[in-house]
Parts: sequence; structure tokens; C-alpha cells
Amino acid sequence: MTDFSEKLGKYAALAVQVGVNVQPEQNLVVLATLEAAPFVRLVVKKAYEAGAKNVYVEWNDDEVTRTRFELAPDEAFFDYPMWRAKGMEELAENNAAFLSIIAANPDLLKGIDPERIANANKTAGKAMQKYRSYAMSDKISWSIVAVPSPAWAEKVFPDLGEDRRVDALWDAIFAATRVNLDDPVGAWKAHTKTLDDKADHLNAKKYRKLMYKGEGTDLSIELPEGHLWVSGGSVNAAGTTFVANMPTEEVFTAPLKEGVNGKVRSTKPLSYGGTLIKDFSLTFEKGKIVGVEAAEGLEVLQRLVNTDEGSAYLGEVALVPHRSPISDTNLVFFNTLFDENASSHLAIGNAYAFCLEGGKNLSQEEQQQRGLNSSLVHVDFMIGSADTDIDGELPDGTAEAVFRGGNWAF
Ligand code: ZN
Ligand code: ZN
Repeated sequence: MTDFSEKLGKYAALAVQVGVNVQPEQNLVVLATLEAAPFVRLVVKKAYEAGAKNVYVEWNDDEVTRTRFELAPDEAFFDYPMWRAKGMEELAENNAAFLSIIAANPDLLKGIDPERIANANKTAGKAMQKYRSYAMSDKISWSIVAVPSPAWAEKVFPDLGEDRRVDALWDAIFAATRVNLDDPVGAWKAHTKTLDDKADHLNAKKYRKLMYKGEGTDLSIELPEGHLWVSGGSVNAAGTTFVANMPTEEVFTAPLKEGVNGKVRSTKPLSYGGTLIKDFSLTFEKGKIVGVEAAEGLEVLQRLVNTDEGSAYLGEVALVPHRSPISDTNLVFFNTLFDENASSHLAIGNAYAFCLEGGKNLSQEEQQQRGLNSSLVHVDFMIGSADTDIDGELPDGTAEAVFRGGNWAF
């Protein structure tokens, strides 16, 4: 076995055993891009070996997606195949696990009319709302892992020869996901424990407010009463642990919807819906985004913010140290899965119900009453860097350091 195929096998095992953590007799749905076919086949094998009942692979293809956006009539973007949405709901209802294997091309939809993209995202968001609520409340196990595609690798390594880019991106992915270590599954167990400890520490503090300072950033975020800090290691309704993002370095909670004020500047480009949004700033008043600036992708960003009522508010506050295996690669991945885990971030849109005490059992209305935002969208964007300082305001009004120089201060 070559070194590469050994690592690929470890990566597949990691996705199956730690990512979705497939249990005996459980169904697994794999949502995958054709680019990833050899890796998908490995994952399917590992899943059956772990005792999966059925593994259903749902394929998609970047070229077919692009062709639809170029050639389909405008009204096509208001339709969604409901049989697909219903099928996903039914599988989720019956406790299937869901693994997405992505190899996104950050420029896939470059030049496509932003209105088409916005309509497509909104239509899919509505159709998949019920299915998504299973994931957003951690009822089911779900996970996302990435594999390189030539288009993505070109974006990350434009200066390398064409024949070396994909290998270089594989190396970066293996480093970022700890696959390079002897025992990645064991390393991930230790890593999720460290993240859990950070979350426990923050939960004991019960900060009322976080204050961010950095280049172009001066922002305060109030946290709702009974908010919970959650780490990247999750537990589903059946009590099975899973890790939703591979890699994950974050500890996160929900902001108080109307408690965000000031200005925040992005520190990494955001790849959203096949377009790159670069060097942007958002200004908040009482939680609402009242100002949007961007050096690139402004129109796509504005449309995202205008999707619905809640897309002009935040739904997630995530703390991520500047130093991590992902950061140590010194790369911009042009992929949120990696970039958000190398940088403190926020999300525009929907909040996770489990970020409130007892939140998993609250209705949408009750979640809103307790200060959580709701929206069809949830889009993370990166705001952390080596000069990010964050203070936390304790219930007695005194402030203390949470982050200094981009890293944990405790
Ligand atoms: Zn996050
Ligand atoms: Zn998020």
C-alpha cells in the first residue's frame, strides 16, 4: 500500500467513525460530488464494515450544476424537486446519518446572474427547511469532509505546476484533519475533549457580552440568557457522538439577535454559492446589518443579507484560535469548511437551537422569544486574525480577556 492510499484509507475511516460515527444497523446517506468518486467508494466500504445497514450515495456534478445556471429558464430557480426534500426528511426521521463530501470549485458560478443564484438558494432553503431542522438541532448525525478537485486546487495553489496542485491540496487536507498522525481517530478524541473543556470554561463564565477589537473591527455582541457554548463535537438524539465538520476547531454559541452593535471586517475571502466575496465589512445597529461594503462580490453579499428578515441578523458566534493545524498550513483554502476553522467567525442568519439551555425542545416561536435569530440561510464568515482581541463581560459587569493576539487568553 502506498503512503497516499494509506492516508486516504485513514481519512475515510475518520469520516465514518468520527465524522458521522455510523452505528450498526444505521442507514448512511452520502451526498457527494463525482470528483470524489474514488474516495466515496472507500467511505461506502468503511461504512458497511462499521455495520451500516444501507449506504445511499446521492451524486452531484459541478458541470451539470453550471450548465443549469447558464441554460435553464429563469422560472426553473423557483422549483425544487420535493421528492428529494421529502426523501431526505424521511431518512432523517428514521435516524439516518448524513455525510457530505465536497470538492467545491470556488468560482463555479462566476459570472452567473446573482439573482438566479439568490433565487436558487432561497428555493432550496425553503424546500429543505424541515430536513435542515433535524441537523440544526443535532437530532441526527451529520458531517462534512472535503476532497480536492483540480479547479479548487488551482485556486489554492496557483503558482504550482498543474500536475502538482491536487497532491498539494491533499497534503494540506491531511495536515488540517490530523490524518498525518499515526492514530487520527485517537487524536480526534483527544482534540474534541480539549474543545469541550473550552466550552465548559465559557459556560461557567456566563458572559453577558463579548467585545471584539481588531483591524477594521470594533464590535460588541450580547449573548442571550441561558446561552450555551458548544464545541465541534456533538451528540445526536440517540446519544451517539459525531463531529459535524472535519476539521473543526471552533467553540460557538448564539448571539442575542438584537444585541449586536459596531463594525466588523472580514479577514478571509468568503466562498458563497459559487462566488468569492472579498475584503468586506458589515455595520450593525441593534443586531441588524445596516451597512455592507465589499471589495469584490458586493452584490452577492447584499442579496444574501436581503434573503429574508433574519438574514440581516447574526445566528452564530464562534471562537477559533489563530494557531491550529489548519492555520499552520498558512493557506487560504477558499472553502469555508477550512477557513472558518482557522479563524474566529460569525454567521449571518439562522441560529442553532441547541445553543440555548433546553433549546432543542423549543418551537421556532419560543426560540425567537428567547432572542435567537431564524432565517433560511446560515453563512459563516471569517473575522479572526493574529491581531484579534476579545473581552468578555461577566454578569457583575467586569470585563476580562477571552482572546489575545488571536488566541485563547485562558
Ligand atoms: Zn461555525
Ligand atoms: Zn456556522
